[in-house]
Amino acid sequence: MKGVESMSEEILRNDEPTLAGNFIHDAIDKDLEEGVYSRVQTRFPPEPNGYLHIGHAKAITIDFETAKKYGGTCNLRFDDTNPTKEEVEYVDSIMEDIKWLGFQWNNVYYASDYFDFIFECAVKLIKKGKAFVCELTPEQMREYRGTLKQGGKESPYRNRSIEENLDLFMRMKNGEFPDGSMVLRAKIDMSSPNLNMRDPIIYRIMRATHHRTGDKWCIYPMYDFAHPLSDACENVTHSLCTLEFEDHRPLYDWFVNELIDGEKPRQIEFARLNLNYCLTSKRKCLKLVNDSYVSGWDDPRMATLCGMRRRGYPAAAVRTFVEKIGVAKANSVIDYALLESCVRDNLNFNAERAMAVLRPLKVVIDNYPEGKTEEIFVDINPNKPELGKRRLVFSRNIYIEQDDFMEEPIKKYFRLFPNNEVRLKGAYFVKCVGFDKDENGNITCVHCTYDETTKGGDSPDGRKVKGTLHWVSADDCIKAEVRLYDRLFSNENPSDESGGEYTVNLNPNSLEVLENCLIEGGLKDTKVGDTFQFLRQGYFCVDKDSTDDKIVFNRTVALKDSFVKQTKA
Ligand code: ATP
Ligand code: MG
Repeated sequence: MKGVESMSEEILRNDEPTLAGNFIHDAIDKDLEEGVYSRVQTRFPPEPNGYLHIGHAKAITIDFETAKKYGGTCNLRFDDTNPTKEEVEYVDSIMEDIKWLGFQWNNVYYASDYFDFIFECAVKLIKKGKAFVCELTPEQMREYRGTLKQGGKESPYRNRSIEENLDLFMRMKNGEFPDGSMVLRAKIDMSSPNLNMRDPIIYRIMRATHHRTGDKWCIYPMYDFAHPLSDACENVTHSLCTLEFEDHRPLYDWFVNELIDGEKPRQIEFARLNLNYCLTSKRKCLKLVNDSYVSGWDDPRMATLCGMRRRGYPAAAVRTFVEKIGVAKANSVIDYALLESCVRDNLNFNAERAMAVLRPLKVVIDNYPEGKTEEIFVDINPNKPELGKRRLVFSRNIYIEQDDFMEEPIKKYFRLFPNNEVRLKGAYFVKCVGFDKDENGNITCVHCTYDETTKGGDSPDGRKVKGTLHWVSADDCIKAEVRLYDRLFSNENPSDESGGEYTVNLNPNSLEVLENCLIEGGLKDTKVGDTFQFLRQGYFCVDKDSTDDKIVFNRTVALKDSFVKQTKA
């Protein structure tokens, strides 16, 4: 992973701001003041069932920055209680993405490490008369559960004796019953207005090989049961999660109060990050990958962290973005343009400059001697003079952008057209004196003359030109492929399934591949992940598909905001 390393170098954690004061920190301050806790411990608890996305960057930042602010610890815990959906590939990618973002956990834990403890907790609940084995079918269970308006009905199995429940639960564990034939439920309150409290399932029978525990278990705890117990096992103080778990908090507290002695963890919820035009659901991202709508989890159009990394988004820009959106208690949708502006600001400062001609048009400088070349030295990055200069080569044959020439200029066109003079960036003034066409009327070559006195790009007689073009020399350029990306979805809310499946919202023009681009020769030794500002074009980074024969670039972001916000009537 050469690319990852090269991009992580600019990550300097300590001089960056931490998340400014927010309601979570206010709550923690109060807890510390009142002596509820004397320390702070958080965790980031992903389920290893997919790659992390930009929403997770928010959760990661909150979890790690909160611990850091209070001099506490933050662990990485894989909530791996659902073996049919989980894989080692996802575990590895999650670790890589967190590191890339610039965070380091204290310890790595797995909920599966606690399966014995969680099992014992279930036994304890049964012994307290607070859990029972239920044999209702899923349909019956749904029916008995009631609705938001209507209370539920108690299961006919609810009043089994403790002995019978213990016996059945052991036999569930020993594999005596088929998958799905029975479950263990907490005995709480079928009339609770909170549906989560209506005797929730805490264990199910599922013969599935777990990526860590193998075939040791044929029963697995439900997330709502495993999560608070895992937090407690690790001595987490503040269990920070997204708002959809707010209604689960009473259940979290119930389990912790019933089963944990001493200090108990506390759950605090914050708003999910939603970005317009982006899909941030692992399940839906997986479908895009499996059905080949994208090239993989790291397709540069994906809102995954590995996709953004491959596209050239610097980790620091993602952190700045999370900083800017802040920590709120209410859900909202953030404009993708904000993320892009963070990326652009970062790259404007950090990216080396280069010239690339994406759609080449040949130009011959008729009065420039054949065979002659000269070197020109220009800034690598005007923001970082310490980096020095890069070398360009000027010669008789060069290439410019097809767009930069018009046979008959439209109004306010200041680029090259017959008899007009423009500046070639860093080189000379050139004036168009003619052009060649092929039999189809396409322009194949433009002829210019250059003014020897304008070397460096200024005229000693004070003559001004209105256009400055980027160019590459035919004697010192290399071929490259450039991939231009547009947003993956054309619908602001891609999850919108009113038009059928959400895949109908895919933007058919989200990828344009330009195979015959020409870039300045100095770029021949770039490595995967290197980012550049291509003059007048935007920011680009070297893709992992590059070979010795051809460098492939991704357009990270255009120079200006092309992400026009749709205004509603
Ligand atoms: P997905 O629906 O994509 O699978 P998830 O919530 O199931 O997301 P987890 O792996 O369970 O994914 O999430 C780990 C942590 O990241 C949780 O604490 C969760 O609250 C948080 N998280 C997930 N999505 C977002 C988001 N869009 N914004 C902020 N935090 C998020
Ligand atoms: Mg989840």
